[in-house]
Amino acid sequence: MAETAAQPEIVTIPCLKDNYAFLLHDPATEATAVVDVPQAAPIVATLDARGWRLSDILITHHHWDHVDGVADLVAATGATVWGAAADAARLPPLDHALAEGDPVTIGGLTGAVIDVPGHTVGHIAYHFPQAGAVFTADSLMAGGCGRLFEGTAAQMWDSLSKLAALPPETLVCSGHEYTTGNMRFARSVDPVNSALMSRATAVDAARAEGRPTVPSTLALELATNPFLRAADPAIARQLDLTGADPATVFARIRSLKDAF
Ligand code: ZN
Ligand code: FE
Repeated sequence: MAETAAQPEIVTIPCLKDNYAFLLHDPATEATAVVDVPQAAPIVATLDARGWRLSDILITHHHWDHVDGVADLVAATGATVWGAAADAARLPPLDHALAEGDPVTIGGLTGAVIDVPGHTVGHIAYHFPQAGAVFTADSLMAGGCGRLFEGTAAQMWDSLSKLAALPPETLVCSGHEYTTGNMRFARSVDPVNSALMSRATAVDAARAEGRPTVPSTLALELATNPFLRAADPAIARQLDLTGADPATVFARIRSLKDAF
């Protein structure tokens, strides 16, 4: 009987006030990547506790709360740094500059780059099918999506649509613990969604116990995240946008959230 290969492991690491970094570990090769480095210390501590050696650093976008610890972590580990070619000028020095569809190799795991502009124009996500996970940072978030600092609503809708097409069981590893506020807003635009109400209750329970609400699953996001539900007639009706195209509905949801 063939042996089952050990599954890749994902570890969520709280950083700063409300950021998350993630470790992706391949037991077959002992390779370990971190996705985003808000600060080095909690990541080094988690690696030490597990006896893992960092091989790779994957950067999603240029904001300080995702890259501030990269230099310290490179100095401490010598890890290889991956990030968007389009943003190379404003990212820490890259060993691999990436564009949409490029492969990312972490030991025996192969990921693919998904271009997800909107929050910033050079934001990328990393999809690892063998781990059943996508690392989305401030594009698709738990119950929400990133604010549009650089891109347009149309760009973000297009970005979220690409993520929405991944297998529904995919783990969505996003960059912040914003879920409680996201649930409050979601219920204001999607008040009769019972899946959303159950999720909001579960989020409150998790936070009351200090547990992260990230990662979530794409299936849960598709059912409850209003930013992924812009094509749903019920949402359009709630916003008096019946018949409008989804990108228009998305833009309205985003501007309502900005003012919420
Ligand atoms: Zn950001
Ligand atoms: Fe952020």
